[in-house]
Amino acid sequence: IKETLRTEYDLSDISYNTWVKPLNFHSEKDDIVTIMIPSDQAHALKYISSKYKSYFQVTISEMMDHTYDIAFILEKDAENETSSSKAVYNINYINANLNSKYRFDTFVVGGNNKFAHSASLAVAESPGEAYNPLYLYGGAGLGKTHLMHSIGHFILDQNPDMKVLYVTSEQFTNEVIESIRSGNAAKMNRLREKYRTVDVLLIDDVQFIIGKESTQEEFFHTFNVLHSAGKQIILSSDKPPKEMETLEERFRSRFEWGLIADIQPPDYETRYAILKKNAENYNKEIKEEVFQYIATNIKSNIRELEGAYNKVIAFARLNKLDITLENVQEALKDIISSHSTRQITPQLIIDIVAEHFGISPEDIVSRKRNSEFVQPRQICMYLCRHLTEESLQSIGKALGKKDHTTVIHGIEKITEDIKTNAELKNRIDIIRKKISSD
Ligand code: ADP
Ligand code: MG
Repeated sequence: IKETLRTEYDLSDISYNTWVKPLNFHSEKDDIVTIMIPSDQAHALKYISSKYKSYFQVTISEMMDHTYDIAFILEKDAENETSSSKAVYNINYINANLNSKYRFDTFVVGGNNKFAHSASLAVAESPGEAYNPLYLYGGAGLGKTHLMHSIGHFILDQNPDMKVLYVTSEQFTNEVIESIRSGNAAKMNRLREKYRTVDVLLIDDVQFIIGKESTQEEFFHTFNVLHSAGKQIILSSDKPPKEMETLEERFRSRFEWGLIADIQPPDYETRYAILKKNAENYNKEIKEEVFQYIATNIKSNIRELEGAYNKVIAFARLNKLDITLENVQEALKDIISSHSTRQITPQLIIDIVAEHFGISPEDIVSRKRNSEFVQPRQICMYLCRHLTEESLQSIGKALGKKDHTTVIHGIEKITEDIKTNAELKNRIDIIRKKISSD
């Protein structure tokens, strides 16, 4: 097998002698071929398993004319009878394709992601039983991928013998295209087997699959097979199914079978908490005002927030400086412009709308249902949505609403009304100008 693999994949002498030659056959059970890695190569377990696994799988499956999965185990673990369950765990763990950085315990829960977090946890606790599929959606950098990996880890920690598989839509698409292009039926079968025999399938950024003819067809069948067998499916996307324009009805209905959970942009408290969490493993003191400065100024998403934080740390290290507010402002000057115009906040919007209608800001945020307050309140919601980066939750909060569905309703009402009501549209344009002029 080793020799065949060497010629088949045209391995250099160095690669072959270093990585492949020292490997030995350990066992074959339940269609899994386990290969032993010498104990002194423990550090290379991950490298070998990621680099050579598929080579071995293809070579062995072709030579034996039977589909095998491949696992690697260290010689010292193999000798130890009791560690066989650990070996299974390793196999499932390696196959799952998870990033160990993304776990529930590194995920900060805030108003913006609370629902998605609880839904993910519920699914992780009883895969296939709670909600199927779980559909997570939200803008870029808001934590969808982090939650998906967390679910995968949690399930494997609880049930080491479950088969979990995380893939990006890009990986999935590439695999489908590749096996179609090869015209090799065995290859297509292996692909189907890979996806249709898992207990938990996580597909990230599913919007990239939709509309790609053959890929979405393959996905459709995979979905049906898994779902009818009670296997858990978890999907993420940038939009809810009803807003995905090119989504066919058969997909839309399936995506809506289980639970749909959104992630909103983080509010101030969540941004602050994430920075604090990042700073836990930094060994020097960082002043409160620094966290406040970054959390106030970087709002759009968490990826940028982490980027800004990393930039600050790197800046301080390289220049051997303390992390003071002045240094942070210097480090982030390209990201946060100091001469930025007046900051548009929900409060500013409320003040200007109130002034425009000749009512008080208190009336806008009150619970009063009088018609002279209801419309200005909805206009505030609408403008907060369009002029600030605030989440629906924090817009609701600024307007004294506990429930963000009121905010959604308000925004929809105004969006609809201005289509037919020219006077209202004009009024809002004027208020908009008042808000954005200094
Ligand atoms: P998405 O998949 O929605 O684009 P990611 O899951 O890749 O976003 O998140 C972007 C970055 O922000 C990652 O490094 C992730 O760990 C981090 N992140 C996102 N949400 C949180 C959170 N609630 N707590 C801690 N880190 C988070
Ligand atoms: Mg992602």
